[in-house]
Formats: sequence, C-alpha cells, structure tokens
Amino acid sequence: MSTIISVSKLRKSYGAFEAVKGISFDVQEGEIFGLLGPNGAGKSTTLEIMETLRPKTSGQVIIAGFDLDRQPDEIKKIIGVQLQTSGFYPGLNLLELVEMFAGLYNRQVDGRELLQKVNLQDKAKAKYKELSGGQKQRFSIATTLINQPRIIFLDEPTTGLDPQARRNLWQLVKNIRSQGTTVIITTHYMDEAEVLCDRVAIMDNGNIIAIDSPDQLIDQLVATGFERVREVKKANLEDVFIQLTGHAFRED
Ligand code: ADP
Repeated sequence: MSTIISVSKLRKSYGAFEAVKGISFDVQEGEIFGLLGPNGAGKSTTLEIMETLRPKTSGQVIIAGFDLDRQPDEIKKIIGVQLQTSGFYPGLNLLELVEMFAGLYNRQVDGRELLQKVNLQDKAKAKYKELSGGQKQRFSIATTLINQPRIIFLDEPTTGLDPQARRNLWQLVKNIRSQGTTVIITTHYMDEAEVLCDRVAIMDNGNIIAIDSPDQLIDQLVATGFERVREVKKANLEDVFIQLTGHAFRED
C-alpha cells in the first residue's frame, strides 16, 4: 500500500480559538479511513481543509503527491466531495442533475451508468425531491463519483437513515472501495465505523487521541483490563426490527 494522503502538524485557528491543534496522520491508498470524535472535535474542519474548501492556519497537507498550498487545483481534480444535499435543485430529475454536475466538472458522464452504480437506475427520471432519505444519500454519493476520483470524502452519509438503508449504504461504500477508490468518512455510529473502516482516527479537542484499526483499538482497550458489562440478551432491538421488517429495501 502507498500513502495517498499525508497530513503533518496541521493547525487551524478561528480567531483566538484553535480548533485543530497540530495533527499528523497518513491515509493509505485503497483504505476506508474513519474520522471519529464528539461534536466540536475538529473533524469537519480537518475534512474541509483536505477538500480544499477551507484555508488552514499552518502545517502541510499532501494529497496524491500534490501540495495543498501550491497545487490545490490538481487536488480538486482527483477528489470527490459529497455536497450538502440541500444544494440540489429539487425540481430537476436525477439525469439532469448528473448532467449539470458533469458540466461543472467539465466531464462527459454516462448518467445512467453512474446511477446504476448507486442502484438508482430506476429513478433516472425522478425528481430529487421525490427520493427517500436513503435514495438521496445514495444520489449524493453518486455525485462524488462524477469526476472518477481517486479519493472520496463522505461526511456522516448514514445519518437519519433506517437500519436497512444504512446497511445498503455500507455495501455501496465497500463496492466503491473495491474499485480502488480511497474513502474518508466521518460518522457518529461506532458500529458503522467498526464494520466499514480499515483504520480510524479518534479526534477530541482538536487532537488525534488514537489512530489504528478498530480491532487493534478494541484489543488495546481489552488489554487494559476493560470488560464490557456482560450482555445477557442474545439479540437487540435492531435485530428484532430487521427480523420483523426484513432485510429488503422498502423505498425502491
Ligand atoms: P466537528 O466536525 O468535529 O463537530 P468542527 O470542525 O465543525 O468539529 O468544529 C471544531 C470547533 O471549531 C468547534 O468548537 C466549532 O465551534 C469551531 N468552529 C468551526 N467552524 C468555525 C468557524 N467558521 N468559526 C469559528 N469557529 C468555528
């Protein structure tokens, strides 16, 4: 594996407040890398700096060999950023929206093929506003793929989705990765991070306080003598929900 993102001593201040306090980390090509941490930890700030959307105060960011300070336009060409879904024109259908974004990226895109990748081929002529929550999220992930990026950034892509739609999105993210795309993802769901991420960085108060694979982090905690209060139940309410409502999607 080779390093595709290298962040070194990254700092970001908003006035006198330092939101990111000199963090360093690498992301390997082809991995799903999670950025975790409580609200206010500095995740979005870090993500948006890597996405070239927010200026840093100091430090170095190298993405695919390009220096953020000197070659931000080169970086923009090889990354896919999930746009805020509120920014989509609600009255356009999905094919029209794909065309519009392709125009912004100056790319020729087969809209139907792109929609197929996120399992929205049957919704090609549907308007954005007519989609369910899960479909909207899948569409916003499709927009990150328009410029055939080497890296995509996903900011809390499963927030607000039902259990089946979350699982479907996990599969989609894994499929994207299996095509060789590196994925940087933020989430507040630890089960999601555990299932999806090869490695996670846990941020708190502007620092990275742990960085490793979920399994390693769990092993390290267990090695300290930590023991979870024993689960007496053999299933949980989510198991009941999935059992009763089935694994299949309802929204399509
Ligand atoms: P997270 O994504 O982990 O919730 P953020 O990066 O959004 O964290 O925010 C980190 C800290 O920086 C928070 O205390 C937040 O209030 C502050 N912050 C974020 N953006 C700005 C801004 N534009 N101006 C001032 N403070 C900001």
